[in-house]
Amino acid sequence: MSVLVYTENWDGKFKKSSFELVSYAHSIAEQNGGDTIAVTIGNVAQDELEKLAFYGASKTVTIGGDTYKNLDSAAYANAITMVAEAQACKIVVMGNNNTGKGIAPRIAVKLQAALVSGATALPQSYDPLTIRKNVFNGKAIGYQQVKSDKAVITLAQNSYKIIDAAQAFQTEAFDAAGVETNTQVQSVDKVSDKLLLTDAEVVVSGGRGMKSGDNWAPLEELANVLGAATACSRPVSDEGWRGHEEHVGQTGKIIAPDLYFALGISGAIQHIAGVSSSKVIVAVNTDVEAPVFETADYGIVGDLKVVLPKMVEEAKKFKANN
Ligand SMILES: Cc1cc2nc3c(=O)[nH]c(=O)nc-3n(C[C@H](O)[C@H](O)[C@H](O)COP(=O)(O)OP(=O)(O)OC[C@H]3O[C@@H](n4cnc5c(N)ncnc54)[C@H](O)[C@@H]3O)c2cc1C
Repeated sequence: MSVLVYTENWDGKFKKSSFELVSYAHSIAEQNGGDTIAVTIGNVAQDELEKLAFYGASKTVTIGGDTYKNLDSAAYANAITMVAEAQACKIVVMGNNNTGKGIAPRIAVKLQAALVSGATALPQSYDPLTIRKNVFNGKAIGYQQVKSDKAVITLAQNSYKIIDAAQAFQTEAFDAAGVETNTQVQSVDKVSDKLLLTDAEVVVSGGRGMKSGDNWAPLEELANVLGAATACSRPVSDEGWRGHEEHVGQTGKIIAPDLYFALGISGAIQHIAGVSSSKVIVAVNTDVEAPVFETADYGIVGDLKVVLPKMVEEAKKFKANN
């Protein structure tokens, strides 16, 4: 059974999450004696495409053309569905990010396939296909059993390791020119001076324990030194201390960085829902009983007025020596 994996690229570059997806798809294909076929949309240079072969893609299908210059979920879904059909893939894998969430259900309908969103592991069984996933905002783990013979799986970020599985490099251009689209993108505004929160590998986030919007300078300094994006809890943006675009959690952005700093954040379930896929969480809080310490990998019990300047100092030393 061959597996199609949609590898999103950002201005022609892949991210770590794209390689995680290829490794995940390749493991499924290997367990079923099939091929791993990657598909990507937009202009990507050959040496970048080659990276997908390194992690297990036996073929990479490329889709270009004006229709695909900007993300259009309907058009992308149509094109990926056509590739899945042409390559006879019964499983389609993509990220559980905003793009994947927009495209995956559409592909599932077109292929008459089951949709497994937010998978966190390889299938537990293939007959029937059964996959583990987070449910109720990460409060519980569920196992979804698929009754259809086809499935579209979105994989939660940081859920699978990157595995070297070099294959011969092969690409194929797919002509998806006839795809209909109802959307016309008028303009695209890109934030250029700031690291995008949802893309950042390191995020420094502040909560009500920061006490005031005027106290953010050391937090921003820490973020600058670490090349991190800044985030906050909901009350912080409700208070107007920070903009709503920084609010993470159930009602804000869902992020999955490699490293998340929760500074003066209690760790309410609604907050954790947005950050629980972070690989490593570091929390600083004066209250040893704060729920955030149940989720954190590293915890510092202490006052931010004392701890944060020390963190900045240590981060600077670390950067200077590395
Ligand atoms: C439907 C619903 C949706 C919600 N969605 C979200 C969401 O998307 N995102 C979100 O964040 N919240 C959300 N909330 C709110 C959530 O329940 C919490 O109220 C909120 O996350 C708490 O924010 P906080 O941790 O910054 O503040 P607090 O709960 O007030 O915690 C502040 C923490 O700072 C610590 N502290 C205080 N002083 C210091 C100091 N000097 N040094 C170090 N630590 C200190 C305290 O011990 C405390 O643990 C939602 C709530 C509801 C009901």
